[in-house]
Amino acid sequence: MAEKRDYYEVLGVAKNATPEEIKKAYRTLGKKYHPDVNPGNKEAEEKFKEVGEAYAVLSDPEKRRQYDQFGHSAFEGGMGGAGGFDFSSMDFGDLFGDLFGGIFGGGGSSRRSSGPMKGQNAYASVRISFDEAMKGVSRDIEINYKEDCDTCHGSGAKPGTQPETCSKCGGQGQVAYTQQTLFGMSRSIQACPDCRGTGKIIREKCPACFGAGYINKKKKIQVSIPAGIDDGMSIRVPNMGDPGTKGGSRGDLLVEVRVSDHPSFQRDGMNIYSRAPMSFAKATLGGEIRISTIDGDVLYDVKAGTPSETTIRLRGKGAPSVRDKNVRGDQYVTLEVQIPTKLTSEQKELLKKFDESYSGKDPEPEPKKKRFFK
Ligand SMILES: [Zn+2]
Ligand SMILES: [Zn+2]
Repeated sequence: MAEKRDYYEVLGVAKNATPEEIKKAYRTLGKKYHPDVNPGNKEAEEKFKEVGEAYAVLSDPEKRRQYDQFGHSAFEGGMGGAGGFDFSSMDFGDLFGDLFGGIFGGGGSSRRSSGPMKGQNAYASVRISFDEAMKGVSRDIEINYKEDCDTCHGSGAKPGTQPETCSKCGGQGQVAYTQQTLFGMSRSIQACPDCRGTGKIIREKCPACFGAGYINKKKKIQVSIPAGIDDGMSIRVPNMGDPGTKGGSRGDLLVEVRVSDHPSFQRDGMNIYSRAPMSFAKATLGGEIRISTIDGDVLYDVKAGTPSETTIRLRGKGAPSVRDKNVRGDQYVTLEVQIPTKLTSEQKELLKKFDESYSGKDPEPEPKKKRFFK
């Protein structure tokens, strides 16, 4: 496949475009390249798909965030073992159906195949800790798995009987409707309501699965979650979704990962934010302080005269990239001067002496404004 174009470029919008701008660009380009407007034009068809794909990502705040962070690879498969971020499963028919009143697939050419069809995707979710998200983790999860029925071997018909060909669609599994749309009358192909797209009618249902052809089972599977995963991202486990029809492959399982908050680290993309205490003496005189990072504590050399609320950067101590765990963000630490509240009488005495000597020698600093004009 050719190198993918940047989604913002495809829609011709700025990186910071508002959802309204994105929708507007999509509507304009979607109409321009729609197959019904460009019959038989392969190039327009490709553009139409490209626009649809770009819109599907940029119109979804979560997907847009992932795309901004990881680019196209946010949605590619093949991430170590159970990997990948889903999006290939999106249904362009539905996407454009929304906009063009269901005429996608119309215009005389059917895009819905009556042959083998891949099964639906199944969904699950898993919660992990902040630390697990940083290091990567493997989790056993229990899913609802539709297994072919042993009694009818997936046909749904009572043993000894056969499913009959649906008379409404003639076994095609789909029927054509004519409807009024933006571009005049248009034909639309939809799943047959009688057989729900299967092309078969079951007169005598299998007693074991009640005609479904499959049995719901609980299945334990192991999901490996890559280091750097962020709250709300999904992992795709291929072929763990619902069974396909007419010999099609199973759908995929999409596992949404929820990451619990950490008591002291906050994350934004690949950067981590935290606060660290610094004694009044260290802030004044300088010296080493201990700072917590996701790799454990590190020593940091505070410069003499560091004001409270100074933010420092620890390079490479942020979250790893889900693409490559060796690529790390940074950690931003806000240093906070601690004002002691429990002092011994000796310490209080020392502090008083310090204050007397200090106020004696060093005049009160002038207001900032005045100094500025000097
Ligand atoms: Zn059965
Ligand atoms: Zn039918």
